[in-house]
Parts: sequence; structure tokens; C-alpha cells
Amino acid sequence: MSLEKLISLRNTLAFRLTLWYAGIFTISSCVAFLLFYTLITSFIRERTDQELFAQVNRFSALLAAEGAEAVKNNAVIEAQAAGVKKVFFRFLSQDGQVFSSSNMSYWQDIDIHKKAIEELLLGSRQVFETIAIPGRKEEVRILYALIGPGIILQVGEAMESYSRFLDAFKGIFIFTMTFLIIIAAGVGWFMARRAVSGVEAVTRTAQKISGGTLEERVPVKTRGDEIDQLANTFNQMLDRIQTLLREIKEMSDNIAHDLRSPITRIRGTAEVTLTTGKSIQEYEALAASTIEECDRLLDMINTMLMISKTEAGVDKLSREEIDLAGLTREACELFEPSAEDQGVTLSCMVPNAIRVLGDARMIQRMLSNLLDNAIKYTPSGGKVTISLSEKDGRILVSVQDTGCGISPGDLPRIFERFYRCDQSRSKPGIGLGLSLARAIARAHGGDITATSMAGQGSTFTVTLPNSEPPNLPTCNP
Ligand code: ADP
Repeated sequence: MSLEKLISLRNTLAFRLTLWYAGIFTISSCVAFLLFYTLITSFIRERTDQELFAQVNRFSALLAAEGAEAVKNNAVIEAQAAGVKKVFFRFLSQDGQVFSSSNMSYWQDIDIHKKAIEELLLGSRQVFETIAIPGRKEEVRILYALIGPGIILQVGEAMESYSRFLDAFKGIFIFTMTFLIIIAAGVGWFMARRAVSGVEAVTRTAQKISGGTLEERVPVKTRGDEIDQLANTFNQMLDRIQTLLREIKEMSDNIAHDLRSPITRIRGTAEVTLTTGKSIQEYEALAASTIEECDRLLDMINTMLMISKTEAGVDKLSREEIDLAGLTREACELFEPSAEDQGVTLSCMVPNAIRVLGDARMIQRMLSNLLDNAIKYTPSGGKVTISLSEKDGRILVSVQDTGCGISPGDLPRIFERFYRCDQSRSKPGIGLGLSLARAIARAHGGDITATSMAGQGSTFTVTLPNSEPPNLPTCNP
């Protein structure tokens, strides 16, 4: 593996996870070892102390029963039996002078601690100490105790066998730990690779997408874990981006198409007038039709801008309390003449007053768009009804008609910008009215839904939040 690869490996999440895993494993094992080690050493020390203390009791009893001479002889025999390098006995007077001992050739470096003797004389039953002898590996545990009037026994025991045991214990631990850490790192690496393999799949897909193919999707396993959730979310995001891109493309196609027609008309009229027109009236007519076409174009551009701004919340809507019932009645009056021209009956079923918080001008625009559509797409003899009601603390404005209706295939798309159903292409319009109406409803915290049966009519329902404060529960004393 090249150096570059090793360096990049060091930065991977899998490597860091493995490091953490192995690190935590090592630290917890060391803590466990230390606890165990402390427990064993204190147990060994306790056992040694008990052994030394048993010697003190034995010599006290012997002194009381058989006298000092028997004690001295017994000490020599006892030390020899245990091994002269294992144990020693020294009998001291109160001023620390040695008056008898076992074979001390191996123990000549062991001093007599005056402080220990002082402590005994002050009343302590026994004094323990552990000392290390220079040049020797093992430590020695020593006990000072009074075994009779004015006679102090200093007994020491080499802890060599215990040190050997602890050394072996340490050796086994280090060997096992090294082995286990290698295994733990291997297992950690395997598990970390498995865990991040899903993230790598997402990265690979993202790389392919940045290379130009938006069709790619991350393969989703059926485990349902976090990686699957990430893959699902990522795929959903791609679906959304794809839909948005398609919509943007459709919209720009529509804009190009809708701009081309009036401009072609303006150009055609101007060309005809230029080549054939001679009188001032013909030029006046050209100017008038140009203004008309330009107004239509401006209207379209302004509506598009208004939808974008309303959706993005750029232009803050005014939030005043308005009488929605009054506004609806005014809209009905406004559309009455065009309904009459079309032979459509327009009914307005609104209560006396319903108040909402909002922008009167925008709400008027929304109502006009809905009424305009209902009248436009309802043939002569049909009926359009606008009604206003309150339900579950929300205000519902419903515009119902008995017109041509919308097919189930078109229904989900009618709120898209520039979308027009095939059967309505003969009617004037640019396909922006419903987009604007929905943007306005949403900007007021509401929405619009549509239900329709092709050939039987449609119902558009606007839901708006109520301006009245919610009824709070009252407390009865
Ligand atoms: P347009 O300017 O075409 O009316 P809209 O955005 O207002 O644009 O409406 C989009 C499309 O939804 C219309 O072209 C029409 O096909 C359909 N539509 C809207 N309202 C109605 C309705 N009341 N009845 C039948 N079709 C409707």
C-alpha cells in the first residue's frame, strides 16, 4: 500500500472508529487488570501478615511455657526448616540490641528500625513494614512484636514466591492483552467497515450524480437501520430534485412558448402594417394592438413575479383584520356581469360577517381567480356558487361550479405554474391563476384543495385560519 493511501486511510471514519474501539478495549482491560492486581497483592500481603503473626503467637506461647532458651533454639530450627533465604528471626531487647537470631548471613542488610521499637513500647501490638533490599528483586515483609516482657521479635519473610507469581501474572496479562488488542482491532475494523459501507454507497452515488446522472439511486437494504434511513432520505431528496428540475424545465418551456406567441403576433402585425399600411389609422391600430399585447405580457410577468414573491415571503403581506364575508360579496358583485354574459347563474351564500387576518388586496385577487375560472369553465345554463363557512376553528371558502370539470389525470397538476388542461385551451388564460391563488392561501397560513368530476363540475375549497382567539376553557369556582 502506498504512503498516500496509508495517509488517506488514517483520515477515514472506519480507521478512527477502529482506533476508538481498540483504545476503549485496551483502557478497560488495563483498568480491570489493575483492579485484579491490587486485589491479589492485598490478598497476598494479608496472608503473609497472618503467617508472620502466627509466628509471633507461637513464640510468645513458647517463651511463656519453656523460656528464652527454647525460643532461641526453635527460631534457628524453624528458619532452617523454612529455608534460610525464606525467613529469619531476630530477638531484640527494648533498646534495640540483638541478643539472639536465626542464621542472618543472607539477611545482614536488614536494619532494625528504632521507630518500630518505639511504637511497640508506646503500646502498639505489632508493627509491619515492607522493605526492598538493594540488589535483590523481591521485597521482604517484616513484623515487630513484643513476645514477652522486654523481648521483641523481629520476624521477616521473603516475598519471592509471591513476586514470581505476580510477575507471571503480569507476563500472561501482557501477552493475552497484545493478542486480544490485535483481534479487537481486526474485529473493530471489520465492523466499522461494515457500518460505513452504506455511507460509502451514498458517497459513490453522489459522485455519479455530480458526474451528470440524476437517475442514480442508492441501493437500500432491508435492515431498516440508520444507514438505510440515510439512503432512503437521500433517494427521496434525489426524487424531489428530479421533480423540481422537470418542473423548472416545463416552466421555462411554457414561458418561452407564452412569450413567443404575443411577440410573434406583434412582429407579424408590424410587418404587415409596414409593407401594406399607408394610412395613419393603420399605424394607430398597430400601436393599439402592440400596447394590448404588451399589457398581456406584462400581466403574465407580473403574475409570475407575484407568485414567486408570495411563495418566498419576500413581500410581507399586511395582516389586518378584514371582513371576508364583505370581500366575497364584493367579488360576487364584480363577476355578476360576466356570469350573466356567459349565461351562468352566480350565487353567493355568505353569512353576515366572518373575519380573518390578512391582506385584503391579495385575498380579493385569490377570490377573483377562483370565480373567474368557475365562470370561464362553466358552459351557459350552468351554476356557480360561492359559500363561506366555519369548521373546526378554520374558515372555508368554497367555489363550486357545474362546469366541464377536471379529469383525474389533470387534477393533481392544475396548481403547477402554466399547467392548463387540454379541454380548456380554447379559453383565454395562461395557467397562472391557480398557482397564484394557492400561493396567497399558503401565505395566509391556509391552503386550497380541488375536487372534480370530469363533465360534472369542480369545487375549490380555500381553508384559512380564524382570526378569533381560540376559546379557552373557563374555570368554574
Ligand atoms: P388558466 O389561466 O388556464 O385558467 P389557472 O391556473 O387558473 O389557469 O387554471 C389552470 C387549469 O386548471 C386551467 O387551465 C383549467 O384547465 C383548470 N381549471 C381551473 N379551474 C377550473 C374549473 N373551475 N373548472 C374546470 N377546470 C378548471
